[in-house]
Amino acid sequence: MMRQYELVDRVRRYNPHVNEDLLNRAYVYAMKAHGSQKRASGDPYFTHPLEVAAILTDMRLDDATIVAAVLHDTIEDTSATREEIEKLFGSEIANLVDGLTKIAKLDLVSKRAEQAENFRKLLLAVVDDVRVLLVKLADRLHNMRTLNFVSAEKSKRIAQETLDIYAPLAGRMGMQSVRIELEDLSFRTLMPEAHAMIVARLNDLQRRNGESIRKVEVELSGELAARGIPAEVGGREKAPYSIWRKMERKSIAFEQLSDIFGFRVIVNTVDECYRVIGFVHTKWPVVPGRFKDYISNPKQNDYRSIHTTVIGPGRQRVELQVRTRGMDDVADYGIAAHALYKDGRAGEFDSLTRESRSYQWLRHTIDLLSEGDSPEEFLEHTKLEMFHDQVFCFTPKGRLIALPRGATPIDFAYAVHTDVGNRAVGAKINGRIGPLLSELQNGDEVDIVTSAGQVPPPAWESLVVTGKARAAIRRASRDAVRTQYAELGKQIISRAFVRAGKEYDDQKLKAVLPRLARNSVEDVLAAVGRGEMFSGDVVKSIHPEFVAARTAGAVAQKGEKGWFGLKKAASLVFKVPSDKAHESEAIPIRGLGGDLPVRFAPVGGAVPGDRIVGILTPQEGITIYPIQSPALMTFDDQPERWLDVRWDIDESDNRLYPARIQVSAINEPGTLGLIATVIGENGSNIDHVEFITRSSDVRDVILDIEVRDLKHLTSILTQLKSKSVVSKVERVNG
Ligand code: MN
Repeated sequence: MMRQYELVDRVRRYNPHVNEDLLNRAYVYAMKAHGSQKRASGDPYFTHPLEVAAILTDMRLDDATIVAAVLHDTIEDTSATREEIEKLFGSEIANLVDGLTKIAKLDLVSKRAEQAENFRKLLLAVVDDVRVLLVKLADRLHNMRTLNFVSAEKSKRIAQETLDIYAPLAGRMGMQSVRIELEDLSFRTLMPEAHAMIVARLNDLQRRNGESIRKVEVELSGELAARGIPAEVGGREKAPYSIWRKMERKSIAFEQLSDIFGFRVIVNTVDECYRVIGFVHTKWPVVPGRFKDYISNPKQNDYRSIHTTVIGPGRQRVELQVRTRGMDDVADYGIAAHALYKDGRAGEFDSLTRESRSYQWLRHTIDLLSEGDSPEEFLEHTKLEMFHDQVFCFTPKGRLIALPRGATPIDFAYAVHTDVGNRAVGAKINGRIGPLLSELQNGDEVDIVTSAGQVPPPAWESLVVTGKARAAIRRASRDAVRTQYAELGKQIISRAFVRAGKEYDDQKLKAVLPRLARNSVEDVLAAVGRGEMFSGDVVKSIHPEFVAARTAGAVAQKGEKGWFGLKKAASLVFKVPSDKAHESEAIPIRGLGGDLPVRFAPVGGAVPGDRIVGILTPQEGITIYPIQSPALMTFDDQPERWLDVRWDIDESDNRLYPARIQVSAINEPGTLGLIATVIGENGSNIDHVEFITRSSDVRDVILDIEVRDLKHLTSILTQLKSKSVVSKVERVNG
């Protein structure tokens, strides 16, 4: 087991200012915490965190990361708590260890292969300090190195997870050496035979070609040295897993692979990189299409290098990678090395040691985190910006749902299933009832509460962020509206048939659909409901002999009596038919949001108790007017739009209906307050107020209010009238 002083020495090698006391305290604390715990290998458990720390010293990470590695399993596996660690080691280290504990919990979530990509993103999104990921990868690397001690079944599961999640994550972070080792350890566990086959062949090749490889190495470095380019030339072979993948991808045999061997040329400056390429291309013929300049065009993970393939000594294809020492470190350690060598900016750090530059980077990262709550900025800094616009949540069963940032539980519900979205009435977020319109956070567990017969409110459409939810809500509300129109159409049509002395049934209507140029009965009903087709024409299509009176009952009577022939209409007292036949024929009105598309007269409204008339209004459904509304005159010459309607209000219904009143009052302070008080005390709402000043003494106030019914309205009017400052009160209908 690594001793206390050995750990300190490893850090001191790259960081002379190592906090020895901190490392020693962490060492002792973790050793005590893990106590007599053992690993599967039989070794003391404490050897594991120490090895993880050792891996991170190879990446030359700062004290906090090394200490976090030593402590990384204490909260998860021992009685240690975050509070205690914070007290002993400070909040920075406590945050790191806490982050690692969080990820360890995520490991328990079911991860099907197709979710691996999402899961990788989840890791990146949940972790708010990139050092947590570095410790996690080192942790996984050590576990993979010691995998042969656990059962075959468990080791296969861990290897698959490593291949799906952690190896690609290391790749994304630019840590190629970690990625390659994770891949090969997984490959060996998952496909031992294939792995053994490739290793055997590689050894065979090495035996046969080893000599000529060394010759190329010597020749190349000699030639470069002679041209004043000090270079490190190393032969290298592809890792077994990438060979296997290439064979799989291209369906070719091992013998057909041409680029198993390659050479890496490490020089000091970018300029030398290009001089090496110049020399190599002059000396040996270039294989076309293989030249790639990742120095002028770095890869997304900041990988920089020049690749080329030439026909080298002995007419062998030789693959070359040419890069500087700094680029090589970035290629191996990615994010961990990233900040050490920001080319072009190196100058400003010249006076600093390489080690302290690494601290600068880490400190800068921490600063970004603590400065503002802008994780976006942090992620951008570490090249993970491709994920910051997403949030990852879980269903109660552990299914991972990836959503755009800003998504709500409604988006979540539709992402699970359209039916779930359409029926959503509430959401439990992390076990607590939360609003359907809250913004989801990474790692939230969301349980959608549904109810059958629920229709998504159209207003949701503008509140969701996913296209899927938006489209589904639009479709559902379109369907609901269509159903409303069809219901209205059915009411209108069946009444038209009754008046014509005929009997309506769907089958007869079906037979004449071509005549009406519609595809379904529902289409006809909806068209009548929308006012696009007249009920009389529907009757006629089935009974051609029927001569349409072109009237609804009420209209006929109005016509006969010439109700609106008189210009003084509004002041007339109308006689409205109230016999039983009329009652049953009239369409029942249950207010807004019922089965029918209904709205109230735009000026003055209508309240239960009012004698009412319905006007079929295209795109709006029925507009309900009180019979005294002067606006009704404008429909006088369109009898086909008139509908008989009646109130059908439940006694227990507390809904409010719109009405407009005009109050003339003395113009003095407190008058408006008095009016508002009367209205408010009566349980009515004021929607809108308008003033008309008549003189300095009197002014009119026009109020749009909401009342339960005519009785309620009358009572308010009476009370207003009784006030001494009020001279006149009347209802207004447009
Ligand atoms: Mn561990």
